[in-house]
Amino acid sequence: MISIDEALDLVLSGLAPLSGERVSLADAAGRVVAEPAASAVDLPPFDRSAMDGYAVRAADTAPGVPLRLAGGVAAGEVAAATLEPGTAARVSTGAAIPPGADAILQSELAVERDGTVAPERALAPGTHVRFRGEDVTAGTVLAPPGSVLTLPRISALASAGVGEVAVHRRPRLHLIVTGSELLPLGAPPEPGKIHESNGLMVRLLAGRAGADVTDHGVIGDDREATIAAVETGLGGDVLVVSGGVSVGPHDHVKPAFEACGVEEVFWRVRIKPGKPIWFGRRGDTLVFGLPGNPLSTIVCFSVFIAPALRRLQGEHDARPNYCAGRLTTPASASDGRTTFLTAALRPGADGVLEATPTERQGSHMTGALGESDGFVIAPDQAGELPAGAPVDILTL
Ligand code: AMP
Ligand code: MG
Repeated sequence: MISIDEALDLVLSGLAPLSGERVSLADAAGRVVAEPAASAVDLPPFDRSAMDGYAVRAADTAPGVPLRLAGGVAAGEVAAATLEPGTAARVSTGAAIPPGADAILQSELAVERDGTVAPERALAPGTHVRFRGEDVTAGTVLAPPGSVLTLPRISALASAGVGEVAVHRRPRLHLIVTGSELLPLGAPPEPGKIHESNGLMVRLLAGRAGADVTDHGVIGDDREATIAAVETGLGGDVLVVSGGVSVGPHDHVKPAFEACGVEEVFWRVRIKPGKPIWFGRRGDTLVFGLPGNPLSTIVCFSVFIAPALRRLQGEHDARPNYCAGRLTTPASASDGRTTFLTAALRPGADGVLEATPTERQGSHMTGALGESDGFVIAPDQAGELPAGAPVDILTL
């Protein structure tokens, strides 16, 4: 059986970002840039006042010497004429300063009287002026290819006059849930049946990872129906099938993959929960078979599928969403597989995230999920980890 790292390398190796598309900057948060996004303007776009006050010629300013008030410029306006020597023009913060002016006398340091304004002191040229292009010049790349459009970058691009950006398109993920025992969300209980949760989790996790999900619903454990659903689902970039990848008489998913010409890359990984995970490809479509236990679905999706979805969107270095933390109680892997333990997560006194595994552990222990904020990882080779040991944590 291969390790998690070997399996993840097999999933991610050679994955090229999907093609680009142009989207409104308003819809681009979290997307990855496909073509350089450059400033359309100089910033500031013109010489602007940084203060409410008076545009002046610095050379004219001396303590108590009045300057004649000539016109004014509000934000959004441009000066009608050049500022003549010996005069001052009232300006608002952000307004374009008139030609000829080279300093701003802020209101707090000025005495206005009888159509004149006198400074308290002489001003140096450039005082409180924001000069054209001092921040950014037109054509400067603000978001290079491969960068994620975080909120700071979105704000910078909006200020730079950019209305549209070229980003990698979202992966189209098709979802098939298998199991004749499954009841829909909130349905009344029935003998022998259980409530479906994997489909919901895949939709939520896939949405968070940026995929567009097409949900084919629940398919009963039937060979022909499974083959037909898989064939349809292979039309996307990624196909995820929940359940039915083990070797029971009602597990039709692997035969269906084979019937549809999906080539197996691996089946079974040293991960707990999630050992029977299956991965293959048909053409450019990535195909995942997830074990049906709800905790296996969450762990396997987070470890293998979410990073693949982010790489398809252009994030070169996407990996599982692990962060460093510390155990509060001893923990260890079991069955020789790297084990993901449901855990409550709280920041310790020093700010390090502390993980406390829940008492109940098991791929079917969905109640324990309700007491947890994520999973703490006990590596297969590490033996028993003592309380206080540094660990990786999968946050959800
Ligand atoms: P399977 O991988 O199909 O053998 O399923 C393994 C276990 O997970 C069985 O106990 C199933 O009843 C359960 N299971 C399968 N699919 C789902 C699902 N969509 N939601 C909740 N439990 C499931
Ligand atoms: Mg099943």
